[in-house]
Amino acid sequence: LAHLSVKNISYVYSNGNQAIKDASFELEGGTICALVGPNGGGKSTLFKSLMGVVDPMDGTVSLNGQTIKQALRNNLIAYVPQTEEVDWDFPILVRDVVMMGRYGSMNLLRIASRNDHLEVDKAIDLVGLTDYKTRQIGELSGGQKKRVFLARALAQQGKVLMLDEPFTGVDVKTENAIIDLLQRSREQGHLILISTHNLGSVPEFCDQVVLFNRSVIGFGGISETFTEEN
Ligand code: ADP
Ligand code: ADP
Repeated sequence: LAHLSVKNISYVYSNGNQAIKDASFELEGGTICALVGPNGGGKSTLFKSLMGVVDPMDGTVSLNGQTIKQALRNNLIAYVPQTEEVDWDFPILVRDVVMMGRYGSMNLLRIASRNDHLEVDKAIDLVGLTDYKTRQIGELSGGQKKRVFLARALAQQGKVLMLDEPFTGVDVKTENAIIDLLQRSREQGHLILISTHNLGSVPEFCDQVVLFNRSVIGFGGISETFTEEN
């Protein structure tokens, strides 16, 4: 089971913007957690701290007792980006994007095993893209691109699954597919973190809510958190 521990982390960008100030929280596997905060509230920076892209100048982040660096090396943390933040001007096949989930950021020189190919095919089937395996990702619709990144995260089989605004700009069918996959992941004991800038759009299947604005300003189940004035 996943156990994520964030203790007293702070991060200031080089231009002086303080994105995170003394933030702490603990989350357990088998839960779906919404990370809610205003635009500019530091959600992306927090996600980046969990992906080793940003290195907090104070505090610690650990997953099952491992530092984030170790957890990333062990490919335990999966990320589904907002599709708009990715540049599509290079040719790459759907199945190759999904295979990147098997490799992780630290293992680019690995050779794919038979099992890697099996897991990739399984993940692509699960998100309903079986017929798109050998298409260029740039040719797909927004919802289909989202599914490709979901498949990449599923193939990775990490302990933590982070999704940045997963329901923005997707059709109802894709939304339902995402919900289905998240619930399946929860049953497998994974920790799922969903970021959203809108408390009103927190999905009802979320077990916990972290209200975040530079720091944790509220924490609890949806009903408790909703009653606060945020
Ligand atoms: P760093 O500031 O840590 O070097 P980057 O290299 O990503 O981070 O950003 C370079 C510069 O781009 C920043 O110093 C900042 O001036 C600007 N910048 C990028 N993204 C933002 C943002 N979301 N808000 C304000 N400034 C930004
Ligand atoms: P959110 O994801 O909640 O919108 P961010 O983490 O993107 O929040 O931003 C938090 C704060 O850090 C904002 O004030 C933003 O302008 C600033 N910021 C984000 N990225 C950069 C950057 N690369 N350089 C400088 N400031 C940044």
